[in-house]
Amino acid sequence: MTIRVTVWNENVHERKEPDVADRYPEGIHGAVADALNADKYNVRTATLQQPDHGLPESVLNQTDVLVWWSHCANDEVDDDVADRVVKRVHDGMGFIPLHSGKNSKPFKRLMGTTCRIKYRHGGETERIWVSDPGHQIADGLDEYFEIPSTEMYGEPFDIPEPDRTVFISWFEGGEVFRSGVCYRRGRGSIFAFRPGHEEYPIFYQKEVRKVIRNAVDWAAPKEGATVRWGEVDSINQLEEQ
Ligand code: ZN
Repeated sequence: MTIRVTVWNENVHERKEPDVADRYPEGIHGAVADALNADKYNVRTATLQQPDHGLPESVLNQTDVLVWWSHCANDEVDDDVADRVVKRVHDGMGFIPLHSGKNSKPFKRLMGTTCRIKYRHGGETERIWVSDPGHQIADGLDEYFEIPSTEMYGEPFDIPEPDRTVFISWFEGGEVFRSGVCYRRGRGSIFAFRPGHEEYPIFYQKEVRKVIRNAVDWAAPKEGATVRWGEVDSINQLEEQ
């Protein structure tokens, strides 16, 4: 089965900061799309600057999994587009916010919490431990992997208790963080993955790319059952009361 993936990026740092443009000449969305360069994925990209942010109903309806990177322009995402993403997740679309995509309107609406953290710039090492080794998203990884230089995110992370916590990060400066967390909302599967700060070439790292592929496979909609909502007729004949 082909998985239809839309990789969405606000695409702002790449256009304003030469070092980010040098690191990601095709944009962060280009690097993430490249990680999904295999026959089983049908990948398109979309950015904030496009009409409807590249996410009109027609695109979302043809998307099995939406991968999302955003940071400084989170507030510029149109409320209607954010609501449309949330509705599609409830209807079964997978959703994978990367890094500061945790602050995106769709993710915060799906969580219902502030999603606040503590953070620090400076390029310390992150050791990402697999805390759920039997999980599909950890498939093929070792016990841990490291990102040599990154921004720190620290607990507490103001999210609802996850269904599964696949990764926990330790940082050189002493903090820890739940780096890979799973949720269901309606029929949709959600996986928030922490790595991806734009100042470092993180989306070229093989373990990060593997996790993104595994997460897309995991979050792809499953057939499931047909349901009826609202007032319904009885299935069996009811006796007259
Ligand atoms: Zn960052």
